[in-house]
Amino acid sequence: MGSAIHEASFWEREGKGLRCGLCSHRCLIKDGKRGLCGVREASKGRLLSLVYGRASSIAVDPVEKKPLYHFKPGSRILSIGTAGCNFRCLHCQNNDISCAGPESFFLRDVGVKEVSKMALTRNCQGIAWTYNEPTIWYEFTRDASKEAKKKGLDTMYVTNGYITPEALEEHAPYLDAMNIDVKAFTEDFYKKIVGAKLQPVLDTCVKAKELGIHVELTYLIIPTHNDSPEEIRRFARWAVEEMGQDTPIHFSRFFPQHKMADLPATPMGSLEKAYEVTKEEGARYVYLGNVRLDPREDTYCHQCGERVVKRRGFGDIVNRLDGDRCPDCGTKLPFVV
Ligand code: SF4
Repeated sequence: MGSAIHEASFWEREGKGLRCGLCSHRCLIKDGKRGLCGVREASKGRLLSLVYGRASSIAVDPVEKKPLYHFKPGSRILSIGTAGCNFRCLHCQNNDISCAGPESFFLRDVGVKEVSKMALTRNCQGIAWTYNEPTIWYEFTRDASKEAKKKGLDTMYVTNGYITPEALEEHAPYLDAMNIDVKAFTEDFYKKIVGAKLQPVLDTCVKAKELGIHVELTYLIIPTHNDSPEEIRRFARWAVEEMGQDTPIHFSRFFPQHKMADLPATPMGSLEKAYEVTKEEGARYVYLGNVRLDPREDTYCHQCGERVVKRRGFGDIVNRLDGDRCPDCGTKLPFVV
């Protein structure tokens, strides 16, 4: 079984406190206190993880739900998360768990080997660390991912991208895919809405790609906050230049949530404009998410334009790929299959 109290990785003594190097907040934590994520505590000269092997939610999902559209389409994955978060997004969709602490009554113990076992008995091909920010229970996700790789399972992070380069490097051999949220393309948004900085997120995206991890990007479009075509164009230009034109980009529709319950849902026009602008910038694989029955959920071959994967809802896909090639023109397409 899991053990909640576990010595953390990536910290060092600094003055009278401990400096955590797991995420880019790099909190300096005094004895008896916790970092911004609320799940790492300085205790008698050591930094502890308070959520090692403590799960809040476990479910089976199609990989498309993360969203990962170019990673083994149609495969089943075990989704698992804990409590807490290192961001404070005003629009958080999972605030019941992201704002919860390690003392939350609903956390259950799970063991390193148990996660793989659960995935295999449920006929899953992989494990997605998701629901809340996976970085903050890094030690458990690393240990359980190592075990998962031994069992032939895939592993993926659905993340805000705030992990430090050193932690990502250590985890990379056991991490197959990441969906990274780029929540906006201004430092101002990150400061006011998220409580973090944009640049470390962009650095993580580039580093993950360099490390050979399959990366897809998600940008949630929030009316009046990050929806201007100029901002989207700057994001798209960065994505094409730094991540490459084959990197899948998901624009997701916002619905009123948490401390942004007074805003309207994203108008379809804003999503359509983002799609158009991003295509104009040269991105080949752009998707609209949180929209139903829209042809822009589908994948079209960049060479011949034929539809190769049709998606209607998460569980309903028609995959025409021939391995990783277009079945019509034979072009190799950017899929992990
Ligand atoms: S993981 Fe937690 S304690 Fe460590 S730097 Fe990030 S917010 Fe601070």
